[in-house]
Amino acid sequence: MARYTGSVCRLCRRESMKMFLKGDRCYGDKCAFERRSYPPGQHAMRRRKVSDYGVQLREKQKVKRMYGLQEKQFRSYFGKAERQKGITGTNLLILLERRLDNIAYRFGFAVSRNQARQLVTHNHFMVNGKNVNIPSFLVKVGDLVSLKEKSRKLVQIEESLEAVARRGIPNWLELDKENFSGTIKAFPTREDLTMPIEEQLIVELYSK
Ligand code: SF4
Repeated sequence: MARYTGSVCRLCRRESMKMFLKGDRCYGDKCAFERRSYPPGQHAMRRRKVSDYGVQLREKQKVKRMYGLQEKQFRSYFGKAERQKGITGTNLLILLERRLDNIAYRFGFAVSRNQARQLVTHNHFMVNGKNVNIPSFLVKVGDLVSLKEKSRKLVQIEESLEAVARRGIPNWLELDKENFSGTIKAFPTREDLTMPIEEQLIVELYSK
């Protein structure tokens, strides 16, 4: 499946917010969004009235890009969220948070979701002691996610674990730094998800 290979900073500028797609660079003054917080492109500075559809579309694109997903995958998460009990928008965000690549990022084993996805596909993680190399694997409450012994010495892991202090580990996860592992204590509640997302707009978009 075709994956976006262009500049990820361009995506932040397009969505008018920092999406922290590049790890360390996102926290420094080299962040492209800090330097040019207007959308990319020749006519970017021209003011345009955005329709309701446009607003909804941008919100969907933003969340999709935050988690590094393709349209088809994202749509299928929405379908799953719709079939679950509760509020569809919240269900959608929780499903996205449960992805193994996101969990690895949240624990601080990677500096970005992109890097986390690569680590997962390269077979560095186990869930409950079993190899898992599928980034979309959905964790459950009580699952133990750990780094394989041979992967613990990777420089990028050491650097990521040092850097995670800056963004913190969510309270629904428990990291055991000594053992390079972590437990899913609970699924996040909507209040735990502090990114500026208006998921209702996505529900409206897909419900047309
Ligand atoms: Fe976005 Fe990070 Fe690039 Fe800044 S450095 S624009 S936050 S990806």
